[in-house]
Amino acid sequence: MKRLSLLHAAISACMALVLMSLAQPALAQQAKPGIERMYVLYCGDIALNDASSFTPGASGPGHLAVTCYLVKHARGYVLFDTGVGDHIVTMPDGQKSRAGVWTVKKTLESQLAELGLKPGDITYLVLSHSHGDHVGNLKLFSQSTLVVQKAEWDWKPPVGVPLPQIGMKAITPEGDHDLFGDGSVMLIATHGHSPGHQNMLVRLPQTGAVMLTGDSVHTKANWDSGRVPPGNFNAPQSLEALERMRAVLKENNAQLWIGHEPSEVAQRKYAPAYYE
Ligand SMILES: [Zn+2]
Repeated sequence: MKRLSLLHAAISACMALVLMSLAQPALAQQAKPGIERMYVLYCGDIALNDASSFTPGASGPGHLAVTCYLVKHARGYVLFDTGVGDHIVTMPDGQKSRAGVWTVKKTLESQLAELGLKPGDITYLVLSHSHGDHVGNLKLFSQSTLVVQKAEWDWKPPVGVPLPQIGMKAITPEGDHDLFGDGSVMLIATHGHSPGHQNMLVRLPQTGAVMLTGDSVHTKANWDSGRVPPGNFNAPQSLEALERMRAVLKENNAQLWIGHEPSEVAQRKYAPAYYE
């Protein structure tokens, strides 16, 4: 009788192991995504000599906001873009660029400090692309892992330093990429404004899905009219990217946040406030 119950116990234990091993993949799939919150960071202002340089059909001078975003995930902080350079904060008349003047009222580093963070605390630095108003503070993040599309990594831009020369560790996906493997931070290939432009789709627990644009679209007027700036690297590819974005937004029931659109600035809550 004792031997029989021992055998029984052994069989039960085996069954339990089999059931556990069957259950594990399902549990992994159901694991809660590690994303916790997202901060919106002010990353400068651009005064344009001619608004039509970015918004076809516009006239007169214009203004673009510059926005960066910080995602807190259980496996690290992710910064999306770095804005124009913090050093401009000390320049009363700002810094002249090809299209206008860049100004900074508050540095990115000071906004991170308000959250108790140093640049070295950023695990992943995702760049939408390598233009100056997105890479101005790149040097602060030499300890982070850069995440850029391979087409952008391989590009030698006419102005500025090619990304491989910065000397950072890098992940260079070709096309869409799930950064943490849990679907909470997705890079979406939207090439065209530059050779390897990418958007970032963030799935927040309460706010829902939000697509961050970089320069795949600069203004709401461009989004509504389906137009792209005359200076884009590849106009047909840029138009395809807009169509792709419309499809991804629909599939994910996502909001579109246009980082350069001034009318959106007033609607956002900036760090230290956050979106959950
Ligand atoms: Zn830009």
